[in-house]
Amino acid sequence: MAHELLEVQEGKTVIDRNSHHLFQYGGDKMLYDLATGVICELNDFTYRLLSLCGGHSWAEVLDIIAREYPGVREEEISAALDSLKGHGFFRYKFSDGEIQHSRIDGLWGFKPRMLQLFLAQKCNLACRYCYAENSGSNARNKLMSWEVAKGAVDYLVSKSGERRDLRFNFFGGEPLLNYKVLQRAVSYCEELSQRTGKKFSFELSTNGILLSREVADYFAERDFRLCISIDGWREMHNDQRLSGEGKDYYDTILHNAKYAVKRYRELKSRIRVKVRANLTCRHHDLRKTAEYLEDQGFEDIGICSVVPLCYEDETPCALTEEQMDIVDSDYEQLQREILSDLEQGKRLGPYRDRYISTMIALQFRAMPLMGITCGIGRNSSAVDCEGNIYPCHRYVGMEKYIMGNIFSGLSPSRTIGLYHKYHQCILKECSGCWAHKICGGGCAWERAAPDGIIYNKTSSHCERFRKTMETFMWLDKEMRKRCPGVYSDMRKSRRRDDERFNNWRWDE
Ligand code: SF4
Ligand code: SF4
Repeated sequence: MAHELLEVQEGKTVIDRNSHHLFQYGGDKMLYDLATGVICELNDFTYRLLSLCGGHSWAEVLDIIAREYPGVREEEISAALDSLKGHGFFRYKFSDGEIQHSRIDGLWGFKPRMLQLFLAQKCNLACRYCYAENSGSNARNKLMSWEVAKGAVDYLVSKSGERRDLRFNFFGGEPLLNYKVLQRAVSYCEELSQRTGKKFSFELSTNGILLSREVADYFAERDFRLCISIDGWREMHNDQRLSGEGKDYYDTILHNAKYAVKRYRELKSRIRVKVRANLTCRHHDLRKTAEYLEDQGFEDIGICSVVPLCYEDETPCALTEEQMDIVDSDYEQLQREILSDLEQGKRLGPYRDRYISTMIALQFRAMPLMGITCGIGRNSSAVDCEGNIYPCHRYVGMEKYIMGNIFSGLSPSRTIGLYHKYHQCILKECSGCWAHKICGGGCAWERAAPDGIIYNKTSSHCERFRKTMETFMWLDKEMRKRCPGVYSDMRKSRRRDDERFNNWRWDE
């Protein structure tokens, strides 16, 4: 029959299979539409129909449906599909490489608002999984001089154009080994603020050993965003985060972190001190780690897994496939608990709350450009002790990725060249992946081999990412259904508007 909206052509599938994703999870049949971002549950018939439409011509679809669902008329099927198309479904088209490449050239003019300073390329710990240890950055055994730190501040101020709010992230190695230069850089920013009207804020990632009361007071009074690494309980922490001389720093670190949390609270800071743990092949109990850190009174908890890198045969401390399966089932269990807690009107603990924030943020993510999904070379740029600029903190020590220097500026050929290199690899690998608008190619560093070659992600990595997104989508759908009021408040408090859903009539 004549078909208005579907524009069915001889030999073509009814809808483009890359415009949407159909999947089953938790016993439900689901659709994710790339153009609208809508995620919805489907009944058996619609799921079957859409599965057929993505792989068959109109005549073939009608033929199969007539056999499987006798009594369903062609007019009804085409009306249902037209209605979905009328809502904007199935229209997504991947923007071609040319458009993406022209956007990359535009990134060259980017005005950054943030810079990461490697105050120390050395550390008072030697963690088994540390990339700064593995890349050789810490082996430089260097502290950033005041001249380089000042040069980095001047660099960001001059590059930031009209931006008023600027931020420095003090990083390492262990940045508190260079506390004096840190304080001098902060004073210099305060002075510049008077002269230029720019406002500065600060972040610090530390292992907590040198975070004494006096130091924590200094950070709390200035509203620093603090991130302290604590890998769970004593045995887990000490087994993963080794001290060179075999000293047990656990009590010091825990005590210092708890004092910092208390001090920020006393000062009624809007910032919550974050603690961060890593799961490795040696210790990977997600729920036990989360519960332990919650029991210690921490209010912002991040937990990451050390995963194998695509270009390495053996990544230090990375989880095995079997261990990653266990962590994945822990996440699924966590989701069920979150749903049940919210249905019963219970407040979520800090780790569960952060999990929901991540889920909401990813759900609403729509990448304008693949391959450059974070701030590499822009807001994530990192400066080492010599003033060299790298795409982000994880590249520091990898000489093939030096993009320029704070004194001489970025090299256009190196910077644009690197973007294009990523882009070519990721465009080829990811354009047919249904998750590319959310993933965009993932963490760029994880593909970057020290010899400068950019690798594809492993199929296992991508499968896991897509599976996680399916579970997030299902959780989103369940929360809308089972606790709509609470979930709506959660989205609003995270400033995620919900227009895509307002355009969708859920009763259809
Ligand atoms: S999941 Fe894999 S293939 Fe898909 S966009 Fe991410 S990196 Fe690319
Ligand atoms: S996502 Fe990866 S490449 Fe991007 S800033 Fe983070 S660590 Fe660096």
